[in-house]
Amino acid sequence: MQIGFMLTDRCNISCDHCDASCGPDKTGLLPSHAIQRLMREASGVQSAKPLEICFSGGEPFLDFPRLESLVRAGQELGATVTCVSNASWASSDEKGLRLLGRLQRAGLSALAVSSSGFHQQFVPRSRVERALRIAHEFGIQAHLKLVYRRSEEDSELVDWARSLPNCRLQRIPLMPHVRKGLHLPDSEFPARNQGSEGRCPGASLSIRETGEAYMCCTPGAFTDFHSLGDATAVPLAEIQRGFDYGSVQQILRQHGPSYFLDAIRATGHADRLREDYAGPCDLCTHIAGDPCLAGIARDVARQEARGQLAKVFDALASPAPVPTA
Ligand code: SF4
Ligand code: SF4
Repeated sequence: MQIGFMLTDRCNISCDHCDASCGPDKTGLLPSHAIQRLMREASGVQSAKPLEICFSGGEPFLDFPRLESLVRAGQELGATVTCVSNASWASSDEKGLRLLGRLQRAGLSALAVSSSGFHQQFVPRSRVERALRIAHEFGIQAHLKLVYRRSEEDSELVDWARSLPNCRLQRIPLMPHVRKGLHLPDSEFPARNQGSEGRCPGASLSIRETGEAYMCCTPGAFTDFHSLGDATAVPLAEIQRGFDYGSVQQILRQHGPSYFLDAIRATGHADRLREDYAGPCDLCTHIAGDPCLAGIARDVARQEARGQLAKVFDALASPAPVPTA
């Protein structure tokens, strides 16, 4: 299974596009004992996929000893351990070598550095380049997650990211879910002409610094619609059951969020939809962010679950065939 922990919402910078509204003034912290317990429980879950644990934030390097000990604990449980950072700490080769050397010895498998035009107002490219280079030198897989605006689609920013050696580039279009209280003009968001069809592409259990568990960490998906409950208060197996068998979750996984569109139109709420979407996640977070649409989707999921249950009862009630001689 894959599980991600947002260790804190504290960050040394405050990017405009940060949908979790992280920043220097935030103090939220997912307690280490809760993380340790959840990691132990995750290592006992039967899953076709090997255990992968990701630590993110906020900025997880701000409390480096805690990050290091959690990486070591994950590695001792046999998990593949990764983390996401903005690389602001990579101010010199000496510092980069010291910190990444310690994480490599603790068992870190991959480092993903987040960058964008928003990040680069605070973190110079040289630090991103240094962190990725040193990670590679230590045999830690290096990834660059680059968020881009519409004006940056074919820009020098993307060329720079493409030119970085020995790292895997993930280009991520800016989604219309940004820092609380901020509004970015529509022209900033890359074209949304990919439609809304398709199944949920990448749900993975994500635990926020509040303890709340979510189906994924896509921008705009920290909503009640995607919530699976308080992971600090219940066993992970219970959260995992909701993730695997929840009625909304099953529909998203088997059909995708477009399954809810007929019901939204049939109940007269088509005007709440947009004409274009940038894929299933865009539609999913749009539905989740509109209480009326989210309510319709939940009703559809409930009816679907009742229908499935009725089929099971019918099958149980049917007389067993009499064996013929
Ligand atoms: S670096 Fe990441 S966590 Fe920090 S403000 Fe920017 S997007 Fe948010
Ligand atoms: S479809 Fe929804 S639940 Fe699945 S990854 Fe996208 S936003 Fe998350």
